[in-house]
Amino acid sequence: MAEKPIPVVVIGCAGKMGREVVRAVCAAPDMVLFGAVDRSHLDEDAGELAGIGNIDVPITDNLEVTCAMVAQERQPGVVVDFTHPTGVYDRIRAAIAYGLRPVVGTTGLTPSQIDELADFADKASTGCILAPNFAIGMVLLQQACLRAAEYFDHVEIIELHHDQKADAPSGTALQTAQMLGAMGKTFNPPSVKSTEMLSGARGGELESGIRIHSLRMPGLEAHQEVIFGGLGQIYTLRHDTTDRAAYMPGVLLAIRKVLGLKSLIYGLEKIL
Ligand code: NAD
Repeated sequence: MAEKPIPVVVIGCAGKMGREVVRAVCAAPDMVLFGAVDRSHLDEDAGELAGIGNIDVPITDNLEVTCAMVAQERQPGVVVDFTHPTGVYDRIRAAIAYGLRPVVGTTGLTPSQIDELADFADKASTGCILAPNFAIGMVLLQQACLRAAEYFDHVEIIELHHDQKADAPSGTALQTAQMLGAMGKTFNPPSVKSTEMLSGARGGELESGIRIHSLRMPGLEAHQEVIFGGLGQIYTLRHDTTDRAAYMPGVLLAIRKVLGLKSLIYGLEKIL
């Protein structure tokens, strides 16, 4: 007998990423869009809003009631969150409390919030996937960075995003810097004593010495450059997201994988 499709709830379904997820879930043969949550476009049909026609899923702002309805289904459901840093921590906890598995793309959670959520998911024996970037190309870039950092001691990150992004630096830039920092090296040993004549001119500095610079302006989507410097050479790695469809293979993979997990994992690279 064919398996029943995975019930998926999309929170932030009216947003740029949310609409993309609605389209991707509706096109996936093994998933069904069970619920659509947002604080805007209430009562509109999620499919109509996403441009795929009526799918009979009205947008609600009541996450708890939606989760409770999924919990009554015979099989575990997944909640996908692409919203705003404000309140995302509580939404993930609420979903786990109802036995749903969160797949979270929203960035801006603090390291201590991530630790607390990991603890909560662990105790509930529930899978949860947080990924600051669902694009496969970014995972490949980060892996290349780890290799390059074996040979280069100087590295700075420039991340460039559209002007609607609420957090800075980007979760992806932070994650990239943290991955490099976990190598235990101290980067960017100073050659001279330098003074910042304009506050922030040298970007934000992490404990590892890695610096991150954030640009925000219309016309951009999501871009990241990691620049390694060595004597007589510069090695630049760059990833550009030109369409939000780039994230969907990663999101769908996470929806499928999270059902088999019993704890929280951070980063798409852990499930590839
Ligand atoms: P957006 O502003 O277009 O959409 C956000 C949606 O969430 C809006 O419809 C808004 O009404 C809704 N929302 C906000 N707070 C809510 C709440 N409390 N309850 C219900 N709905 C709420 O933003 P976007 O471009 O779609 O990005 C959303 C998030 O995803 C951001 O944090 C962004 O950084 C992140 N993002 C992550 C990835 C990734 O690969 N992980 C990729 C792109 C964007």
